[in-house]
Amino acid sequence: MPRLPDCPGLTFAADVPLAPRTTFGLGGPAKLLASATTPEAVRCAVTYAAENGRPLFVLGGGSNLLVADRGFDGVVLVPSLRGLSMAPDGRLTVAAGEPWEAVVEAAVAAGRAGVECLTGIPGTAGAAPVQNIGAYGQEVADTLESVEVLDRATGRIERLERAACGFGYRDSRFKRAPEQAIVLGLTLALRGGDEPEIRYEELRRALATAPNDAPPLARIRRAVRGVRAGKGMLLAPEAPPDARRTAGSFFMNPRLTAEEAAALPADAPRHVDDDGRVKVPAAWLIEHAGVTRGWRLGAAGVSPHHALALVAHEGATAHDVLRVAAHVRAAVRAAFGVTLSPEPVFVGFDLPPDVVLGVFTTIDPARKKVPVPGSVPAKRTPGPRHKE
Ligand SMILES: Cc1cc2nc3c(=O)[nH]c(=O)nc-3n(C[C@H](O)[C@H](O)[C@H](O)COP(=O)(O)OP(=O)(O)OC[C@H]3O[C@@H](n4cnc5c(N)ncnc54)[C@H](O)[C@@H]3O)c2cc1C
Repeated sequence: MPRLPDCPGLTFAADVPLAPRTTFGLGGPAKLLASATTPEAVRCAVTYAAENGRPLFVLGGGSNLLVADRGFDGVVLVPSLRGLSMAPDGRLTVAAGEPWEAVVEAAVAAGRAGVECLTGIPGTAGAAPVQNIGAYGQEVADTLESVEVLDRATGRIERLERAACGFGYRDSRFKRAPEQAIVLGLTLALRGGDEPEIRYEELRRALATAPNDAPPLARIRRAVRGVRAGKGMLLAPEAPPDARRTAGSFFMNPRLTAEEAAALPADAPRHVDDDGRVKVPAAWLIEHAGVTRGWRLGAAGVSPHHALALVAHEGATAHDVLRVAAHVRAAVRAAFGVTLSPEPVFVGFDLPPDVVLGVFTTIDPARKKVPVPGSVPAKRTPGPRHKE
């Protein structure tokens, strides 16, 4: 291995298991794990990887990853930058390594609106703009003012305004081109004073019956966490053991053309986006394709609490999760002609996620009935529970 650089704030460790650093608890080791506590140390790690021709992957809280069983043969860089401050005008500035929940907590405590519905999303602040995290009617792009990044090609630190981030549904320029920039921190422009807007019906219902014993934002945060807990989408100590090892939603909600959406059954829920695309809940498609919550294939399966979340059970490997994901995707395609795209980032695979899943698809897509080798159907809890 080439000599490691001696930079203040940068530490290296070799052959570090990645599984304990992901919420799935899966995957092999990183050849080299670099932890950087300053922007300069981040730059130093990037330079080291580039000069030695080593691939570099940026790791946050590992809550949106599927790491290959063989691990990552390169440098895994953890930007452990800390710091959070709130200006009197509601501008919240946070370093990439802070937990995202600390952002929500600070905003709610200060009575500033804009991120209260994003409570309970695990991971770091630095990863929030990467897939433009969203839930219950809010996205981080709604309040994000700017992102501070390290340009990996030039080594320069730059400030990108919101418009330059290329945000879309669970998407951004950072996700589309991960080799370009590392997020060092963000600034959010939070709102004050006005009554929070609730855009999500399920949340409205939860709030209608919630005790009126706290300020509005704190009540919303609590209600969101309650709804999330009910879906197994909250990684809290009290979370059900069968839903702890997950990356949350494994598939994105497909955005269909009007023509594609018209081909779906009349009772399929639809949401028309501003650009005319029709968003359909992937969870609805999965369940109506015959995949039940709690369905298992070996040591991995579908969460018993939400059809969109895949879970790892005792003894599972990333390979097991891929088999389940491929089956779910094939079942939806066979039933509705819709191809679901995975939401988590695949690490350590040679091929793009869609191709990886294609390789694992063993069923005949023309068949309506999907064979389920060795499946263990679990008891299904009734009632629609679809994530936005
Ligand atoms: C139970 C559960 C519920 C979830 N619910 C939601 C939800 O409601 N909405 C939602 O949007 N997501 C949800 N997620 C997914 C996940 O929590 C988010 O995507 C989160 O932002 C990932 O943060 P992380 O720090 O864990 O990133 P990681 O998983 O470590 O990384 C994710 C991606 O971001 C990149 N990245 C991380 N940090 C940086 C950085 N500083 N600079 C550049 N790139 C970086 C990584 O390279 C990778 O490509 C959920 C996950 C779980 C487990």
